[in-house]
Amino acid sequence: MEEYWSRLEKAQGYSEVWEIVKDTVKNSLDERRVGMMLFLDDLPLRVGAYHPLGTNNIVLNRALVNIVEVAAKVKLLVNSFVYVLLLHEYLHALGRKSEAQVRPLVHRISRESFGENHTATKLAEAGPWSLLKDIPLDLIDVPKRVMEIVKDFEKATKRYIV
Ligand SMILES: [Zn+2]
Repeated sequence: MEEYWSRLEKAQGYSEVWEIVKDTVKNSLDERRVGMMLFLDDLPLRVGAYHPLGTNNIVLNRALVNIVEVAAKVKLLVNSFVYVLLLHEYLHALGRKSEAQVRPLVHRISRESFGENHTATKLAEAGPWSLLKDIPLDLIDVPKRVMEIVKDFEKATKRYIV
């Protein structure tokens, strides 16, 4: 548990958070899927991320993460927010289709990995938007930039295959 704790605190960027997502799911559910790709796009702020069914892709809401980066300031908060969103989509990609299956699992895996009082577990329980409850999201103009792919998203996994 302490290992995940410090890894999430230190994680630099999406691919390091992603490795923690995969490792904590492996630890809690003994399931793993490799070869996923991450795209960043500016979506409506009530959308965190999505996994187009039948693809290897996850699309994360860059505009929302940018707002969290400004609002949260602390890296652990930003990383916890990204962790909860990516974990949610990863569980969809592992075949948990309904929200009723995924939401309690996100909470359970966070609790088992980080403990009851960790930021990620609290965000998983209350929903990631609880972090933004004081920000008038409806009044913010969402920038619309080009969708981008996160390079070397699964770099660490590829290393083992070579
Ligand atoms: Zn979902």
